[in-house]
Amino acid sequence: AFNFCAGPATLPEAVLKQAQEEMLDWRGTGMSVMEMSHRSDEFVEIAETAEKDLRELAGVSDDYAVLFMQGGASSQFSTIPLNLLGDKTSADYVNTGIWSKKAIAEAKRYADVNVVASAEDNGFTSIPEQSSWRTNPDAAYLHYTPNETIGGLEYDFVPESGDVPLVADLSSTILSRPLDVSKFGLIYAGAQKNIGPSGLVVVFVRKDLLGKARKETPTMMNYQVIADNDSMYNTPATYSWYLAGLVFKWLKAQGGVEAMAEINSRKATKLYDFIDGNDFYANPIDPRFRSWMNVPFTLADDGLNGEFLKGADARGLLNLKGHRSVGGMRASIYNAMPEAGVDALIQYMTEFARERG
Ligand code: PLP
Repeated sequence: AFNFCAGPATLPEAVLKQAQEEMLDWRGTGMSVMEMSHRSDEFVEIAETAEKDLRELAGVSDDYAVLFMQGGASSQFSTIPLNLLGDKTSADYVNTGIWSKKAIAEAKRYADVNVVASAEDNGFTSIPEQSSWRTNPDAAYLHYTPNETIGGLEYDFVPESGDVPLVADLSSTILSRPLDVSKFGLIYAGAQKNIGPSGLVVVFVRKDLLGKARKETPTMMNYQVIADNDSMYNTPATYSWYLAGLVFKWLKAQGGVEAMAEINSRKATKLYDFIDGNDFYANPIDPRFRSWMNVPFTLADDGLNGEFLKGADARGLLNLKGHRSVGGMRASIYNAMPEAGVDALIQYMTEFARERG
């Protein structure tokens, strides 16, 4: 089967097999990783190796702390303002869809949120040119969502933010292509798309931004505390951390993010070209800003959606139903989706359009 779920998403088969083999007895210790103390030499090695591999893959320098936190990406929506506002009161946000809106709504509990640009006017199908953004040079940070998982809208540029720290929710695009991390103050990503199991959230934060948390910040949300304790202030999500480490090893074996970018670009281009070339299917996004990871599409006749999904399921093409807020279909084609999965989907879509179109 090929699983096109937006998250939790498909994981590399080799990773799941290795986890299965090691499940009951990790390297002759007689224990599952799930049963190990997070303070044990064995687990500390697993944790440190995962961080080292992630730093290498994503190109994260020692100027940044790499944190393995909990509560998913959504918990960062409040953790970020609590930690980064410092003595400032306002923060800049770009609104490009549902995930930006959630980040904005949460930040409003702590900050004066200045929405510098919004794609709402174009129905979230295009990213407003940066020259039109009304940024505030005195903002505590500028937050944006490089890939809107639900809308399938992805930036093809990194915004310029001058001296204002740039903050990005990379949940659904992290490690899918090279990125210059040095342009960012903070990057966060829920793990359940390109990294591993849900619940885990990875944060890269520039070290000079640490130590400014508001005094009412819960300890578990204080980046300085988490960094000082190597993400082990409390019991971390050990098994998720271990699985993330296996995914990082797998990514390195594929050739890292450069190799993934090549494959991901090919997969996405193929699928969009097919959709554009077939009257029966449509994708509304400005071609310049189409997501490499999440490809929403509609059928010419909505009434056929149920039949389309049923036929897809029967072929092992799973979870193609679009998000409830936008309807239609969505194929999420993260790093772990093999090109053969995209080929199988196109084959099915071709046959379905021929028979029912
Ligand atoms: N941000 C983006 C871009 C997402 O796609 C998601 C989840 O799918 C989230 C945030 C929320 O992540 P979580 O469910 O881990 O809180």
